[in-house]
Amino acid sequence: MIALNPLARLMTPDGQTGPEAIRRTTHLGIGAHQDDLEFMAFHGILACYERADRWFGGVTITDGRGSSRAGRFKDWSDDQIAAERIREQEAAAVIGQYSFVAQLGFGSAAVRDAQQTAVREDLRRILEAARPEVVYLHNLADKHDTHVGCALRSLEAIRQLPKADRPKQVYGCEVWRDLDWLVDDEKTPMPVSERPELARALNEVFATQIAGGKRYDLAVLGRRTANATFSNAHASDQESAMQWAMDLTPLALDDSLDPVAYATGFIDRLKADVSARLRKSL
Ligand SMILES: [Zn+2]
Repeated sequence: MIALNPLARLMTPDGQTGPEAIRRTTHLGIGAHQDDLEFMAFHGILACYERADRWFGGVTITDGRGSSRAGRFKDWSDDQIAAERIREQEAAAVIGQYSFVAQLGFGSAAVRDAQQTAVREDLRRILEAARPEVVYLHNLADKHDTHVGCALRSLEAIRQLPKADRPKQVYGCEVWRDLDWLVDDEKTPMPVSERPELARALNEVFATQIAGGKRYDLAVLGRRTANATFSNAHASDQESAMQWAMDLTPLALDDSLDPVAYATGFIDRLKADVSARLRKSL
């Protein structure tokens, strides 16, 4: 068994035992809320879909209790909404053929506080057991504090692994802030044109969120289309759907790199790019 905090809930769509389902994982997504994996890590879900040799594993860190609610969920209690969000996440895991989905059940405050070790401990245990090749995290320029907290706790957990066991690629993905602003040669592309019906089905699972008056299902697909079209002004579209990532691999491999300096470095280079283009035509 892999000992996680008592509120954690592990589910394996094909009935595999928990430890084996974690062990076979090659592509691991770690998101803050139910729905973040599907919105940001579809690239990994696609890479593993209907493959015997690759498995996508998903970790949702928070309990989703504080989510806004409207429509038919308007009068639901925190307990009811949390239970429904767990059910939605597990339904997505079935549709997407995940190896496992672990919902850790933490409150947002526990994620955002670097002094608390419980989140990092659960993540380290999962990472140790899975030793994934590829990891999908929130990007460090995301504007949601809980997303940023999740990304930092995940990087800290990765850094606790021996270097040989760390993932080969760590993507920082788009949710609450897209990454079209990265200068072109620093955008890490995640083409996601295949299986649009799967993308749609995964996004539509999250009725509690969509009923809150937020058309995430449409917005996520629209952003992917926009990214594909606006990726190159001079070539016709090679992909019909694209997600951008901030490459977080250097932070995962080099413990001396400071996440703040690393993230703001991308902004400095955007500033230089904008300045240089303006000056050329002044
Ligand atoms: Zn989220």
